[in-house]
Amino acid sequence: MASKYQAPRGTFDVLPEDARARARVEAAASGIFARAGYGRIATPAFEDTELFERGVGRSTDIVRKEMFTFEDKGGRSITLRPEGTAPICRAYLERGMQKLAQPVKLAYSGPFFRHERPQAGRYRQFHQVGAEAIGSDLPLADAESIGLLADLLTELGVPGVELRLGSLGSLQARRAYMEELKAHLHANEGELSEDVRERIDVNPLRAFDSDHEGTRGVMEGAPRMVERLEGEDADHFAEVRALLETAGVQYSIDPTLVRGLDYYTRTIFSFVCDRLGAQSEIGGGGRYDGLIEQLGGPPTPAVGWAAGIERILLALGEETEAPPPRTVFISHDAGSGEAGRTAVALAGELRRAGLATELDLAGRSVKGQFKHANRIGADLVVILEEDGTLQLRDMQSGEQDAVESSDLVTEIGRRRS
Ligand code: AMP
Repeated sequence: MASKYQAPRGTFDVLPEDARARARVEAAASGIFARAGYGRIATPAFEDTELFERGVGRSTDIVRKEMFTFEDKGGRSITLRPEGTAPICRAYLERGMQKLAQPVKLAYSGPFFRHERPQAGRYRQFHQVGAEAIGSDLPLADAESIGLLADLLTELGVPGVELRLGSLGSLQARRAYMEELKAHLHANEGELSEDVRERIDVNPLRAFDSDHEGTRGVMEGAPRMVERLEGEDADHFAEVRALLETAGVQYSIDPTLVRGLDYYTRTIFSFVCDRLGAQSEIGGGGRYDGLIEQLGGPPTPAVGWAAGIERILLALGEETEAPPPRTVFISHDAGSGEAGRTAVALAGELRRAGLATELDLAGRSVKGQFKHANRIGADLVVILEEDGTLQLRDMQSGEQDAVESSDLVTEIGRRRS
């Protein structure tokens, strides 16, 4: 019977058959973070709403329409975190991390929440892995950060990935450029979509993202920030590019690249994947030299990224990896009484020795237990005979031998080698 309850719109359950692929992504990310000296951080799933208003930016789509915001019982405005960078910067300041050796390198993984229109690759609760290096303005930090995500996608074997790179310049340069861009948009207001027109003065960069034909036409003639970079901004970007080239990380410059968060300065980047549909971005990030100051801290340069775990899984497609081989205990009296106690004790021993081992927990007949062992792909079964002796049977060949309980671990190891 179908359940009368359904998971909320835009959410999903991770079922055991999906969990293995997901765990592989998490494990690959953990290895990459650990080897690069990034410590793990976990921040709360919700924060004061103002953190995101200030940190992500009031003019962004995220803050304007995508946040899950509610009032708690104390009348405070709370928001389920839509992204990880602002909370990590909050933690950096609150926990006095500016006193540590800089940069502070932090990595995370967990659920995030955005009230978006659900579609393939876009959910209301999704999961990200991400990394932040806070307290360095060196191009080296940008290149290393980008390299970590490139390594993760390569190690996982995500096909069809491309890296797009841009630069927004420093906060001051970005501000000057924005004025120029606004002037261009105002001069062509008539051809813009309503949404873009309404936001010329709040968030002109978003116009680069528009699908609207008229807007696209106007944007073709728009000034481009990467072409306006000067002085230290130009040098910084050139150095990031040189470092990526030395590291063999392929990229293309995308002068129209913008990101959905207000806090970026200088380097921005996006990894897209041609196996994904409309939601083609697998992960991205950039430098956010103004964010910590925006949150009330001292000026602190920083760079980081986040990648969507569901997008990585979608790009990887169906996982064909076989489950690990496992042993199943089969006993003549459905595991009750003496045989049951022996099976529990021996299974425990095998598991402690690192072997995947299962017991019948459903009271099946011997025939039923064999059928089930086949169904779950057991390569070996241990049969507990009525007289208390054990038989080890190879399910593929049908070969079966008596075995002493004290030899079980060694015997299983020998058969699998
Ligand atoms: P952002 O925090 O917007 O820079 O997004 C970083 C990454 O998170 C994106 O590249 C996506 O892979 C993923 N992502 C963002 N929003 C969603 C969503 N609503 N559903 C699934 N993945 C998302």
